Amino acid sequence: MENITLGRTGIIVNRNGFGALPVQRVSSEEAAKLLRKAYDNGINFFDSARSYTDSEYKIGLALSDVRNKIIIATKTPSTTVQGFWQDLENSLTMLKTDYIDIYQFHNPSFCPKPNDGTGLYEAMLEAKKQGKIHFIGITNHRLSVAIEAVLSGLYDTLQFPFSYLAHKKEEDLVNLCKEKNVGYICMKALSGGLITRSDAAYAYLSQFDNTLPIWGIQRENELDEFISYIEKPPVMTTEIEKFIENERKELVGEFCRGCGYCMPCPAGIEINNCARMSLLLRRSPTEGHLSEEGQAKMKKIEDCIECGNCKAHCPYGLDTPNLLKKNYEDYKTFLKA
Ligand code: SF4
Ligand code: SF4
Repeated sequence: MENITLGRTGIIVNRNGFGALPVQRVSSEEAAKLLRKAYDNGINFFDSARSYTDSEYKIGLALSDVRNKIIIATKTPSTTVQGFWQDLENSLTMLKTDYIDIYQFHNPSFCPKPNDGTGLYEAMLEAKKQGKIHFIGITNHRLSVAIEAVLSGLYDTLQFPFSYLAHKKEEDLVNLCKEKNVGYICMKALSGGLITRSDAAYAYLSQFDNTLPIWGIQRENELDEFISYIEKPPVMTTEIEKFIENERKELVGEFCRGCGYCMPCPAGIEINNCARMSLLLRRSPTEGHLSEEGQAKMKKIEDCIECGNCKAHCPYGLDTPNLLKKNYEDYKTFLKA
């Protein structure tokens, strides 16, 4: 069994965290069964967010009787103090608890700090003083905001995308967190579904002893895979090294991670899937993508009004409108075939 210490929080948890975004998509009963099975088998870190509809409610439903045996992290996307408190109270109610272990600002476009005029960081401090939260975290997709947060000394944890497709600068960020004793929670360890071998994903991440992946779990077979890693954590082997090397060659450069931060699109384009369709077609079963519904979604790319909104909001600096067009052209060749 591999445990990890989340930086200065001193929180020690199993290296398989539960990312509770996908449980929104299943019934309360199914979600509760998954969450409980995870807990019963040794998973003790659960990450949610106010924005993940009923995810917090489902965690409360499944785990409130073992509250003091688990660590809960959740997030507020609020940019106002009033919204911050509303979100916090709602989270506490939904989670059926009177404290949140790690309360995180959810992907803010800037790094909240004391005296920045927003009052957000002061609200975190007050919530901590009241005992409603224990530690202050931040999540982000922008490297500059993440680095600023780590260097500021104001944050106990950072949540940032990290997988074996990471660039050197992202590996540097993980090491910076270690140096500054900031806990590192990895989101997108499977790169939004592009990584299909979770053992390779795990083996890569475990080379960085301060990283805690939160696996997005929706199905029991996915959960079983991660539960098996509690007993037998995958380790880096020559075979996995070679596999990762090939993956990096294939997925090198500018590709859409499916994060959805460029949405909504005024033309109704489902950008987070359409802009990476070429990869999805080659790396996952094609039936769904080529179905009538899938075709209708891709055809919407023709309605792009070139407003540039997506490009301006993509944290990876992608030229999203052009990427959509390229994916659409490629998609049409699959349809013909
Ligand atoms: S540029 Fe096109 S795809 Fe991007 S947000 Fe505007 S309409 Fe949507
Ligand atoms: S285009 Fe950029 S912002 Fe939009 S889903 Fe892809 S990676 Fe995320």
